[in-house]
Amino acid sequence: MTSDLQDLYQDLIIDHSKRPRNFGPMENPDYTADGFNPLCGDKLKLFLKVEDGVIKDVKFVGAGCAISTASASVMTDVLKGQTVTQAENLFETFHYMITGPKDPQHHAGEGLGKLAVFAGVSEFPARVKCATLAWHTLKSALAGSHDATSTE
Ligand code: ZN
Repeated sequence: MTSDLQDLYQDLIIDHSKRPRNFGPMENPDYTADGFNPLCGDKLKLFLKVEDGVIKDVKFVGAGCAISTASASVMTDVLKGQTVTQAENLFETFHYMITGPKDPQHHAGEGLGKLAVFAGVSEFPARVKCATLAWHTLKSALAGSHDATSTE
């Protein structure tokens, strides 16, 4: 990766952390879950509307560091219009990009589009949980019940 590209990635993360997309509460979500990263203090709550297996809308509220906010913002952007199965596959690919073994033959983040901006986080173990918090929350939301209060 060239340093120019790294700067670009940095810019995208800063932009999303300062102006998070899809930020705000949602009325009558189909799925919701709370996420908390005690290592950093990041907190978020995720809301999803799902129709016929397709994610129609996704929003989040909460407060956290720049990485966790940017990750939630980019994730919600990418998830809209995806099927639940595609979302679960993205979780696996994203998680592997950040926590999996490095393979120099294989560009980490391939097929992830702008989610690949978080590939650099894998070099900062303390930041890994910040970047994956929104995704873990997504997973528990999709696996959980419709009852917002019962998850924690
Ligand atoms: Zn954090």
